[in-house]
Amino acid sequence: MPQLYCSRFYKISLTLLLSYAVWGCRKPHHEPGPPPITSIPEDEIVHIPVVVHVLYNKASFNISDEKIQTQLRVLNEDFRKKNADLSKTPAEFAGLTADAGIEFVLATKDPNGNPTNGIIRVLTQVDGWNGNNPSGSIPIADLTLFHTAQGGSDAWPSDHYLNIWVAEMSDRNGAMGLAGYSSYPGADAQVDGVVIDPRAFGTLVPLSPGHLLGRTATHEIGHWLNLLHIFGESDNCTSTDFVDDTPSTATRYLGIPVYPQFSCGHSNMFMNFMDYVDDEAMYLFTKGQRERMRKTFATGGGRNKFYLNVSEKSMDKANGPNSPFQTP
Ligand SMILES: [Zn+2]
Repeated sequence: MPQLYCSRFYKISLTLLLSYAVWGCRKPHHEPGPPPITSIPEDEIVHIPVVVHVLYNKASFNISDEKIQTQLRVLNEDFRKKNADLSKTPAEFAGLTADAGIEFVLATKDPNGNPTNGIIRVLTQVDGWNGNNPSGSIPIADLTLFHTAQGGSDAWPSDHYLNIWVAEMSDRNGAMGLAGYSSYPGADAQVDGVVIDPRAFGTLVPLSPGHLLGRTATHEIGHWLNLLHIFGESDNCTSTDFVDDTPSTATRYLGIPVYPQFSCGHSNMFMNFMDYVDDEAMYLFTKGQRERMRKTFATGGGRNKFYLNVSEKSMDKANGPNSPFQTP
C-alpha cells in the first residue's frame, strides 16, 4: 500500500507558490470509490484515543501540556459542532452543517496497558520534514520521524490510536514552511497519523499567523478520516471530493476570503474545514462529510478495525454479560 499524504500549506507567498510544485496535495493512488454501504449507529459518539509525539530541538518547540490540551479542546468543538464561530455560517449553508459525532481524548493506557498521559517527548535533530513523503518515493525505513531508533518516535498501533507527531517544519528563513500533513486510511501503520508544526498546533504560543485556532489538526484529521479537499484535489469544476453537499469549487481558497465567492456557477463553501483558508475563516463540516467520515469506521471502511477496537458499543458486545468471550 503506498503512502497517502495530503499537506496543508502555510501562507500566500513565493515560497508557497514554489511549494505547490513540490509539496502539493496529491490524490490517493486509488480513488476512494463508493463508501461502504453499512454505517455505524447514528447516535454513537466515537472516542478517539490520541498519542502526541512531541519532537523538538529547541525549548520553545517542546510545547506544553497546556498547549496540547487546547488542541484537544478545539478538536472536540469542531468535530462536535460546538465551535462558537459556527454562527458565522452563511444562511445558504446553515442547513448543511453537521456534528460529526467524534471526540478525542489523550490516551490513558500505552500499547502495553501501562498508564500514560498520552504525550511522548523526544529531544532530537529529526524534524517534521523527515516524515514528509508527498510523492511516496521515500522508503518508510528512511522516514526517520517515524522511527525511535533513528531519533524519531515510533507510531503506537494505528488500529488503537491516532498518532499525532508535533515537529518543526521550518523554511530556510526559520519561518513555518508547512503546517501539516496526514495519511489516509490504508496507509502503512508505521506512518499512519498526522504531522503538525508546533506553530500550527493548539491555541497557545508559539503560533504562526493564519494558524491561531488549531484548525490544522481539524483539517488533517479530516484527511485521516478519508475526507478530501472540497475542491476535489484538482483545479477544475469536475474534480470531486465524493461528498454530495459540498458544492463543486474550481480551486482552493487561501487567507480570509470575503463572502460570497463564486465558481462553477454557484457560491463556494470556502469556510469548510477541508479548504485551505486561514483558521479564522474555516468553521464547518457538512452532513455529507460526517457520513463519509463515519462510514470509514463501518464494515468495509478503512478504519473499521480501529473502530471495533475503540468503540464502546462494540466493546460492550465483546465484554458484556452476553459476550461469548466473557471469562468467569
Ligand atoms: Zn489538506
